[in-house]
Amino acid sequence: MLTDTHTHLYSEAFNEDRNAMMQRAFEEGIDRFFIPAIDSSYTKAMYQLEQEYPEHIFLMMGLHPTSVKENYEEELAHVESEFQKRKFYAVGEIGIDLYWDTSTLEIQKIAFKRQIQLAKKYSLPIVIHCRDAFDEIFDVLETEKDSQLFGIFHCFTGTNEQALKAMSFNMKLGIGGVVTFKNGKIDQFLHKIDLKHIVLETDSPYLSPVPYRGKRNESSYLRLICKKVAEIYNISEEEVAKTTTQNAKEIFNI
Ligand SMILES: [Zn+2]
Repeated sequence: MLTDTHTHLYSEAFNEDRNAMMQRAFEEGIDRFFIPAIDSSYTKAMYQLEQEYPEHIFLMMGLHPTSVKENYEEELAHVESEFQKRKFYAVGEIGIDLYWDTSTLEIQKIAFKRQIQLAKKYSLPIVIHCRDAFDEIFDVLETEKDSQLFGIFHCFTGTNEQALKAMSFNMKLGIGGVVTFKNGKIDQFLHKIDLKHIVLETDSPYLSPVPYRGKRNESSYLRLICKKVAEIYNISEEEVAKTTTQNAKEIFNI
């Protein structure tokens, strides 16, 4: 059994064939899906997804850095009020994204820090989105570093050094489609990192693994990521599936 630790199954990209897409994932042995939030506009769709697949869907709640805009206080209030109402498995996805918009850096940092503190309040992991912002993210993590800080560095695409740094903050590395890319680079050093620090993810509908690169991604392709990771570590796919699922269960406390 495999666990997709980061997949946006509520995305409009699946509106035409969501059930068929879910069946394909089940057939490939993926039976747990951890669902990161983006902003309040998706909350209803997330709850609906959970209602349709209650045994398989595990929801997170949070404000994505690219959705941190002028109304971010309102959005954070939405996140906080949802946490008061019900259980989530992580605060995510949160972080800093300087690829799409650098003008919001200051408020992105504020939103990131506030949501880390929210995770600590509920003893939950954080799921970090980092794009062109390793130094800025590490600066914030440094100010929040303690025994309560833990989580996943989602879609990890950094260097070996950045991987070690992320792990020093009690973060696991979320490995996805990029590991199958020829120029993805993480395949060069991943084998040096103990598998106990790794979880698998697709980030569907984005970042499809080879041979679907550039096309819509879906959770059934997690198999291809598992296969590539098994090659890199020179172990069986079963072992990768078993260990990474165990890691996911520990981090999300299920
Ligand atoms: Zn995501």
